[in-house]
Amino acid sequence: IFNKMLTMQGRLRVMARIRPLEMKEGGGGGQRCLSIAPGGDTIMLDFDHNGAHKFRFDKVFSHLPNAHSDTEHGIAEQVLPLALSAMDGYNVCIFAYGQTGSGKTHTMKALTSIICRKLFSSREGFKSKVSVSYTEIYNNEVRDLLRNPKDDHGRSEWGRVDKIDHNVPSLDVRTNSDGKVEVNSISVRITCAEEVEDLVRRGTEIRSTFSTDLNKHSSRSHALLTITCEVENEWAGLKYCGKLNLVDLAGSERLSRSNTEGDRLKETQFINTSLAALGNVMSALAKDQAYIPYRDSKLTMLLSESLSGNSKVLMMTCIKEGTEEASETLCSLQFGARAKRV
Ligand code: ADP
Ligand code: MG
Repeated sequence: IFNKMLTMQGRLRVMARIRPLEMKEGGGGGQRCLSIAPGGDTIMLDFDHNGAHKFRFDKVFSHLPNAHSDTEHGIAEQVLPLALSAMDGYNVCIFAYGQTGSGKTHTMKALTSIICRKLFSSREGFKSKVSVSYTEIYNNEVRDLLRNPKDDHGRSEWGRVDKIDHNVPSLDVRTNSDGKVEVNSISVRITCAEEVEDLVRRGTEIRSTFSTDLNKHSSRSHALLTITCEVENEWAGLKYCGKLNLVDLAGSERLSRSNTEGDRLKETQFINTSLAALGNVMSALAKDQAYIPYRDSKLTMLLSESLSGNSKVLMMTCIKEGTEEASETLCSLQFGARAKRV
């Protein structure tokens, strides 16, 4: 039912969302380096003397002229059919990629609530069971974001971890006899969208973040929200199990930008390696290659089932439009374009 609109499209989609310039004190939001070509799917980045760099996407969301409406409704319209195909038994992955401050968390938070509200309102006529797990990958170790922080921090309340606690036990990642990758994370049965939003809010508070020069709470980990839908259609006598992965990736910025050293340097290296692995997997999928290098990182290993077979993948490339950010923006656009290239 949700798939009618999808059958004509590929299973790998790359979209972009442009975070508007901040209004700086004293008016004016700085210089802009992006524009959208007529037609609405090509971003032009113009910041040096080489002329505009052009990147074509499946959809571009922005307030800029020619772009697709950057409203909750506008984005929902493009993303919901894909996301809700998890209820038809598909595996779906939605990523937010981009530098720190480009709007990844903002976008994934909005998508999570839009999707969950629709998920729970469109289940009439089905018997279904929905459960979620929420984990992070930090320095190539998997940690549970639904754990009770009291157990490992000795604190009685949920709260932001200012200093990353390296003693939190990591989860086992193993391959079962069917060749599927499994992780022993907590899975919580869900009955309404608000429960998911609440779990995500609490889990996000214990996510590994650290202050860099770029952002007060820069995410140093990839956060994976996995929504599993088991649907039974009694009328048709059918049963499905689909999975929806909503992934808020760690900031993609290169080292020099965040003035990093020591632990921060190590984190950045892990982030770069895993994002590169993701890019390689996506481009191998786009080219329909026989060998897909899932095992190069925990990120791609954990998502291997949802990135292969009949899965549907959407990458939302989040970018900033200011000229000061142009070189990072160029990297993000190139990453998105490479993932899509066949
Ligand atoms: P990231 O997770 O990529 O580091 P955030 O999602 O935290 O970035 O966004 C950084 C800041 O910009 C936040 O204060 C967020 O509310 C704001 N922001 C992000 N995207 C938008 C947008 N499309 N419109 C308005 N504000 C946004
Ligand atoms: Mg973030």
